[in-house]
Amino acid sequence: MNKILSLFFLLLSLQLFAGGGEKKDTVQALVVSVQKDDPFDLDSMSGKDIISLIDSLLDLDAVPANLAKEINAYAEEKLLKHDFYISLTGFYDSSIYPSNSLYQKWDTYNLYPYRESLREKDDEVKLIIADSLNHCNFVPPIKGLITSNFGWRDGRSHNGMDIDLQVWDPVKASFDGMVRISRYHPGYGRVVVIRHYNGLETLYAHLHRLKVEPGDVVEAGQVIGLGGSSGRSTGSHLHFEVRFKGKALNPRHLIDFNNNCLVSDSIKLIKTKWSYTAVPLGIDYHTVESGEHLYGIAKKYGTTITNLCQMNGIRRNRPLRVGQKLRIGG
Ligand SMILES: [Zn+2]
Repeated sequence: MNKILSLFFLLLSLQLFAGGGEKKDTVQALVVSVQKDDPFDLDSMSGKDIISLIDSLLDLDAVPANLAKEINAYAEEKLLKHDFYISLTGFYDSSIYPSNSLYQKWDTYNLYPYRESLREKDDEVKLIIADSLNHCNFVPPIKGLITSNFGWRDGRSHNGMDIDLQVWDPVKASFDGMVRISRYHPGYGRVVVIRHYNGLETLYAHLHRLKVEPGDVVEAGQVIGLGGSSGRSTGSHLHFEVRFKGKALNPRHLIDFNNNCLVSDSIKLIKTKWSYTAVPLGIDYHTVESGEHLYGIAKKYGTTITNLCQMNGIRRNRPLRVGQKLRIGG
């Protein structure tokens, strides 16, 4: 699934800043120009204008795909620049509930009760995701074929990744943590949500059997349920989500599903107006220069075009832009 669309999902999914119709004229003009295939130029707009624009798009019934792509390409570039984020915070505390100072809420019924949670200080958050001292080991929930990626699917957002499995296959906790949810949900079926010590939460859906209860302390690799097809599901698979403060992250930004390991031992979550985007720490970006193409870039960093496309959510045939930042590695 195209990362651009995933990012767009992030933009649209939250609706934290819905309202405000003053930009509607601009939006309508853009929509009309997109429908006519006229060129439009987001680069001439300021960051604030773009945010208002996206804000207004939430009022529309449907957003033209071209416009969504442009906005996301723009946001993707800007997000990697320093002026979009400011402060650093970390969350370690002594409560029995993992990351309690961050959430101040331990809800064992609602999957994501964190609507109010984005705060000024959360502009940029560094999370250590693999650190045995801080109980942050990683084990893949199940090793299997990815059948659906995070992002936009059939006109709906897909908040996680689908991994193929057989009914009864053991599903494991990805990181150490405490089980917050273990219940039946009409959509997710039998579902487990684990809160981790770094503030991330992971969700495991469509299970056939639940093997843990809320409050259980689990270790990475511990079996938390058996795979199945419960809830709204066609065929047995694991639907796996990674969230921070209720906001879905693209699991591929943390986890290298080809090798079943972490992309990086720590990540930086950069708050956007609407959500977070996860950027691996210790992994550099390549800035596209004139005349460069995916083949050359992949070769330079010892990776494959497929990997580059997956990491960056781009299609092979999409032309690269000069100045575009590409994630390398993972
Ligand atoms: Zn799914």
